[in-house]
Amino acid sequence: MTQVKLLAVVDAFLQREHGHFINGLSQPGGGALRPVVNPATGQEIARVHDGCAEDVSAAMAAAQQAFRGSWAEMTALGRGKLLLKLADAMEQHREELAQIETLCSGKAITLSRELEVDQAVAFLRYFAGWAGKICGETTEISLPPRGGEKYRGFTLREPLGVVVGIIPWNFSIMIAIWKMAAALVCGCTVVLKPSEFTPLTMLRVAQLAADAGFPPGAINVVNGNGGLLGPMLIEHPFCAKVTFTGSVPTGRSVGNAASALAIPVTLELGGKNPALFLADMTVGEMVDGIIEAGYLNQGQICASAERFYLPAEKMDEVLSGLIQRLARLNVASPLDEACQVGPLANKAHLEKIQKLVARAKEDGDEILYGGYSPERPGYYFLPTVVKVRSENSTLMREETFGPVGSFLAYHDEEKVLQQINNSPFGLAASVWTHNLNKAMRYSERMQAGIVWINMHSLLDPALPFGGVKGSGNGREFGSAFINDYTRLKSVMMRY
Ligand code: NAD
Repeated sequence: MTQVKLLAVVDAFLQREHGHFINGLSQPGGGALRPVVNPATGQEIARVHDGCAEDVSAAMAAAQQAFRGSWAEMTALGRGKLLLKLADAMEQHREELAQIETLCSGKAITLSRELEVDQAVAFLRYFAGWAGKICGETTEISLPPRGGEKYRGFTLREPLGVVVGIIPWNFSIMIAIWKMAAALVCGCTVVLKPSEFTPLTMLRVAQLAADAGFPPGAINVVNGNGGLLGPMLIEHPFCAKVTFTGSVPTGRSVGNAASALAIPVTLELGGKNPALFLADMTVGEMVDGIIEAGYLNQGQICASAERFYLPAEKMDEVLSGLIQRLARLNVASPLDEACQVGPLANKAHLEKIQKLVARAKEDGDEILYGGYSPERPGYYFLPTVVKVRSENSTLMREETFGPVGSFLAYHDEEKVLQQINNSPFGLAASVWTHNLNKAMRYSERMQAGIVWINMHSLLDPALPFGGVKGSGNGREFGSAFINDYTRLKSVMMRY
């Protein structure tokens, strides 16, 4: 066991008074103190002041001032250079950020380093590379030149303004960086609202950004109750765009609030992602694939698979191999570098999963492995394998967002494709096979924003990401993000 020793800077940071980051300064605010709980122990590790209307107004005003002033006056390359400097600073503070993240979310320290920090740095650098490349186009005008005059038209890509970014608890740094870096490189400024459960990491990142030279007001963070602050932020007159990642019910209410005011909104919501294994895969390949698709970070990845479709003739052998592998995973403190199963991110989330698994038992689904919390402090729940009775089982329809794989055997590939698409959601899906022809055809037919072939969950900044159907709208990454953070202005001239 290699238990990580907390850095002195992490201890010191936790003991500080926390609240918000507004106009280039850490500002505790005067709201009620909310405890931050380490999900691995159930113990309080810090306290953060809840935001109120004054904090929202101050953050939105600072962001608007920077949008009209310092951020707008900076050249595009200057903005890109600052994003690169922040990437360097985050890399230098990698261990510190990873430890704070692990203490707040229970994510294994290795994942906090590699996914939260390293990936966030990679995304920052990717978005920085767009600086100076976001532009309109010149176009020919066909008006009749009656007196010999000529015409020319062109479009300008204008930044939208102050972007409100609402962040979930599962990737408190990486998802915030997706939104923040995309907005900033387009010339927008941001007010971020982290989850109540993981309010600390972006406070630290915002401070690093200020130290790297970002002008006051370009990046602001307001913490507190989402149900209270969310509507205040969205309805604020300076809000020009909302980008939300989180659950379906909250996303719908965010979407309704923004649409009522004709504010553009990007929604990255939950799902019930399928993984389809075709019969040509070996049992070992299927087991490896299921673990990659469904159990990383205790299944708390929006794109994780929760519905698994296995060929009937291989189902029992695959499940028995899977159970043997899951039983060998190291359930440990997330600060242990050998941790393979850490806690769930918070108590409410644990209770939600416990209820869903209890309902599955009542429904007649078979819990083949796990399904309960091990005897230890914190919010642990063992990786769970459920053989569902039918595609109508609750566990085939409702997102657990946890380490609960639901397995259904199929006999007919055509019918299983229909079952897979018979879902109100469509965030992500995967198909696993050595048959290139089937892989290509099935990936085209699966209704999801992203379909992986022989892999699952991994994202790349060059490839757009976002859902279809009830899993949301809008696309992050690639060049697609530009449409979400800029608007086109047309200019026509006669000469
Ligand atoms: P959540 O919807 O409970 O909270 C998300 C954020 O919304 C939090 O910051 C919260 O404070 C805020 N919020 C709460 N009520 C609000 C309101 N009325 N108005 C505005 N904001 C409000 O989600 P969560 O539990 O933090 O995250 C888990 C969910 O996120 C899962 O459903 C998961 O699938 C989804 N998710 C999706 C993606 C994606 O990219 N599609 C990525 C990660 C997580």
